[in-house]
Amino acid sequence: MKEKIFPNLPERLTGLEEIAENLWWSWHPAARMLFKKLDRRAWKESVHNPDKMLRELPAAILNSAANNPDYLREYDSVLAQFRKYMEAACCLVGNNPDSNIHAIAYFSAEYGLHHSLPFYAGGLGFLAGDHIKECSDLRLPLVAVGFMYPEGYVKQRIREDGWQENLDQIIDRDAASISRVFNELGEQLVVKVPLTEPSIYVAVWKITVGRVPLYLMDTDIEVNDPWNRGITARLYTGDVEQRLRQEIILGIGGSEVLEALGIKHSVLHLNEGHPAFALLERIRDLVQAGKSYEEAAHKVRATTVFTTHTPVTAGHDVFPFPLMEKYFYSYWPALGLDHDSFLQLGVHPKKPNAGFNMTAFALRLSGYCNGVSKRHAEITRRMWHSLWPELPEDKVPIDYITNGIHVPTWIEPKMELLFNKYLGPKWLEDHDNPVLWNSIDNIPDEELWKTHYWLKMKLIDAIRERSRQRWAKNSVSPSIVMAGGTLLDPSILTLGFARRFATYKRADLIFQDLERLKRLLNDRWRPIQIIFAGKAHPVDDPGKRILQRVFNAARDPSMGGHIAFVEDFGELFAQYMVHGVDVWLNNPLPPMEASGTSGMKAALNGVPHLSIMDGWWVEGFNGKNGWAFGREEKNGNRDQTDAEAIYRILEEEIIPCYYNVSDEGIPHKWAEVMKECIKSNAARFSSRRMVKEYMEKFYTKAVKEI
Ligand SMILES: *Cc1c(COP(=O)(O)O)cnc(C)c1O
Repeated sequence: MKEKIFPNLPERLTGLEEIAENLWWSWHPAARMLFKKLDRRAWKESVHNPDKMLRELPAAILNSAANNPDYLREYDSVLAQFRKYMEAACCLVGNNPDSNIHAIAYFSAEYGLHHSLPFYAGGLGFLAGDHIKECSDLRLPLVAVGFMYPEGYVKQRIREDGWQENLDQIIDRDAASISRVFNELGEQLVVKVPLTEPSIYVAVWKITVGRVPLYLMDTDIEVNDPWNRGITARLYTGDVEQRLRQEIILGIGGSEVLEALGIKHSVLHLNEGHPAFALLERIRDLVQAGKSYEEAAHKVRATTVFTTHTPVTAGHDVFPFPLMEKYFYSYWPALGLDHDSFLQLGVHPKKPNAGFNMTAFALRLSGYCNGVSKRHAEITRRMWHSLWPELPEDKVPIDYITNGIHVPTWIEPKMELLFNKYLGPKWLEDHDNPVLWNSIDNIPDEELWKTHYWLKMKLIDAIRERSRQRWAKNSVSPSIVMAGGTLLDPSILTLGFARRFATYKRADLIFQDLERLKRLLNDRWRPIQIIFAGKAHPVDDPGKRILQRVFNAARDPSMGGHIAFVEDFGELFAQYMVHGVDVWLNNPLPPMEASGTSGMKAALNGVPHLSIMDGWWVEGFNGKNGWAFGREEKNGNRDQTDAEAIYRILEEEIIPCYYNVSDEGIPHKWAEVMKECIKSNAARFSSRRMVKEYMEKFYTKAVKEI
């Protein structure tokens, strides 16, 4: 039984349904154009959501496309390309072609795939989304599991006083590239998760991400009581018990769902500690099949990959022992364990009474562990040395695989065309080959600059349009409209800062010395402007205070209209930002930024990084491709030292370089930095390089253990 139908779709265009129902369209501009060309206005109104658009488009428009030879030519070509992509056989380098059995199951609490599917809070989600898109491109037999959050992440609205409000938004589940999974009776598949009284049931949804199926669980169904229904309502609830229940659903429920679907997986990849209870299900299966706990744990270890993502304490869940007892008392016997040995699995050796630590637990039971940059792995080995007291710190078995971004998703289509012209039309297929990128030097400065300038105008236009709508719809005060970016000017050197407003990211760092900043903003000949965007976690008041400070600066006339804060940051606006600003600013408190990925997205599009030496930039910076500061830890006021470094680099290096233009108006020196930035970062910080490393270091080895 097929639930989704586009009743108005003519026979000749039925392939549009195939394309709309697979997120492949989202990283193929030609596929997006197919929808856009049907009706630009409807495309815009649907906010680039083909599913929603096809549901609403009148038959007349579709019929006229079905009779338009130009349209049909493109349609046939995209459909053929899509089918070819889907038909290619799966591979696992040098391994068993029987892909249904030897699959990798990837578990993550969030996925950032597209703005029409708001199941993410930030970088962790985009990393997961980019990972599975790349696995699809590389034809890895991978299946992904996560949550369907009916309320998504918070929708942000800034009050007149600059305080962030969180608006509830309910997702229209039927108007997105997502579908229900049906059982043989034609009803939505519902799976029972054991462990609680009353039992929790999850309904199963599916997003098709190229060749990779992503199954999402939803507890908001009638058979569940209200408390259970709320489990998957939104990402990262503040309530500890509900959070434990979320993680039980993710790990244990997720395993049950795969079982119910008949999907066997031999390798488990845990993206962060949230889904780590999946380990228990694997052990339980083996114990039930007659193995001892030790044998089972050995086998599970040999086939599990665990990626840890943050040194920030709040990123590592710790559950009180009494709560663990409440939910698992009937479970540990099935593992062949008793009360103490079970709880020991999650004990942090240095904080034995703190509770059950999900990271300690995952590290103990995963044979392949990694941090997400070289620097982060060093920090992680230090953090968890106590789990391997017999080893020297540098031998602690936590490797690193530096994050990367999915290039087809983050390359701007106009830049893509420019690269087609100078790197060859096949560059995208071979984009992790560093040699290919040397041809960037062949792009004339003028062409690169004009493309970039066009993208900057597009960004500023989009910002002004948002402010205009806010003004027209909500009749907010003029200063709020100004703060939203109405006075931005494309000819001015533009810095971008957009990400979650977690305190360690220090969004307000550049406001340390207000007078010095104002001199830079308001310089008569060489001013700068800064665009901010991002959400604070709904219960993070310190983060909201930082946001308020930034917002109030944006409203302050003495900043000259050169600071903007754009509300409700998400994937759509992230695209505009990383394509359109001149410099990407990144100044977290080291060593908290495990990797960071937004700077990689910017770099791919020729937007250089002004960043503290932390995360990926420790590997990325080469002296010519951007700017770096804060190399060594200094005593005293770290914020002040770092802010001063930013002002100095701006004053002495960035501003003179940017405003040094030829008579034709081309900043040749700047174009040189842009080229170096693309050339040195694009291949290295791609998810293709990253997933290939996961294959070589982990997946191929773990698969052999079966
Ligand atoms: C890439 C991305 C992030 C991650 O940003 P970092 O702080 O650099 O890790 C967060 N949010 C969105 C919407 C993104 O696209």
